[in-house]
Amino acid sequence: MSMRPLLALSICSEVFPLIKTGGLADVTGALPAALRPHGITLRTLVPGYPAVMARLAGAERVLEDPNVFGGAARLIAGTAAGLDVFVLDAPHLYARPGNPYVDTLGQDWPDNAQRFAALAQAGAVIAGGMVGGFVPDVVHAHDWQAGLAPAYIALSEGRKPATVMTVHNLAFQGQVPSSLLASLRLPASAYTPDGLEYYGAIGMLKAGLRYADRITTVSPSYAAEICTPEGGMGMDGLLRARAHRLSGILNGIDTKVWDPARDALLPAPFSAGDLAGRGLSRAAVQAHFGLQPDSAALLFGVVSRLTHQKGMDVLLESLDAILGAGAQLAVLGAGDVALQEAFLLAATRYPGRVGVRLGYDEALAHRIQAGCDAILVPSRFEPCGLTQLCALRYGAVPVVSRVGGLADSVIDANEAALAADVATGVQFWPVTPAGLRAAIARVASLWADRAAWGRMQARGMAFDVSWAAPGKRYAALFKEAVPF
Ligand code: ADP
Repeated sequence: MSMRPLLALSICSEVFPLIKTGGLADVTGALPAALRPHGITLRTLVPGYPAVMARLAGAERVLEDPNVFGGAARLIAGTAAGLDVFVLDAPHLYARPGNPYVDTLGQDWPDNAQRFAALAQAGAVIAGGMVGGFVPDVVHAHDWQAGLAPAYIALSEGRKPATVMTVHNLAFQGQVPSSLLASLRLPASAYTPDGLEYYGAIGMLKAGLRYADRITTVSPSYAAEICTPEGGMGMDGLLRARAHRLSGILNGIDTKVWDPARDALLPAPFSAGDLAGRGLSRAAVQAHFGLQPDSAALLFGVVSRLTHQKGMDVLLESLDAILGAGAQLAVLGAGDVALQEAFLLAATRYPGRVGVRLGYDEALAHRIQAGCDAILVPSRFEPCGLTQLCALRYGAVPVVSRVGGLADSVIDANEAALAADVATGVQFWPVTPAGLRAAIARVASLWADRAAWGRMQARGMAFDVSWAAPGKRYAALFKEAVPF
């Protein structure tokens, strides 16, 4: 185990606040600051999307290659929005409208294999010590987009820093045709079931899981679930074989951005000691969503992608339980068109009781967390989940399925936990209308005892959801992975 300061290279396709489509960006954006107190300097390698190039400062060209998949590429070292970055500037690969993965019509970019292989190759070049002044001890690859990096490093002749592969969501795997092997500069000899091959294709995530020295995922429960046939999405055999290399570290959230005592997006600040401001947020949410201004009604909130993974179809089927309990529901989300339509229909059918806003709205998300009594998170699977962490911090009681990071971050209000004064929310299983209806009924009966509810709320607000503990765990893992 290394005791000296370490240099680490993070390879990822998104990083907050430069470019974000999901929770992955929050994690890669938070890790540099979370690791710094532990003597680890983390530098982030990202593609040179327009949003990244626009914020790049103090830029210095460190490497150049006239032909990376059909165009010139430069590796630039600099800073952007307070992060130390390496940017792979390759306009023919990254200077496009749309998001990092899909065009403006929502279709995958046809050359995603080359776009992210180029990123992984740049990471392997840095890993090999080719950038003077930055020779990393650890390479940290995130999700399938960076999955080839541990393979390039392991299969090369050069120096080999420790490699760590982190899975944020096993559902996204990056399969590309085997005909690309040579052009992606992968040795044909590694195209075997024990190597890069995955169901007749090159598996980019599989490559990372196979070749990295360590594998992590974003909660201990998800680490266990992905080793089972039910949760393994085809990777469980490999993950079981490498289980001794696999661990789960729960994510944190940015407690400066999510701080009810200092949140300028709220009508009034509040804290566990003084919840008065919370009432203003509650009334604001009711007004915004056209709900009856009823201070006694239990107000449920949802901030979510509207997808099957998130159990949003199950919620729609359980609305009768919410209405039957005299409760209200405010939904903010975007996603599947059929689910969006169904939520809009529900809002029309139950005016004053169900309110829906489609779209992505950071400010409204803060107000929902600050104003709702409880937040529903009925995910079928959930690697970590961030909404329930925000809910805990904002005094909205999380009502979650007992799966992945939801199971690891919420303490169910069962008899024993209530007696011991440790409950912070409600867990339920299975994710079916019957399961969710039963959970809603339990929440309604807990709500009836407002003093006990207040204690549960206060315990949730006191729960540490910051990056302090996860930062310490990643640092320990990095140090263990580096032998000297
Ligand atoms: P996932 O990354 O699978 O979508 P997470 O819970 O890990 O789910 O992270 C999603 C983050 O994005 C959460 O912080 C959540 O509050 C936020 N979010 C999701 N949908 C919306 C939305 N429509 N508007 C604002 N914030 C949203």
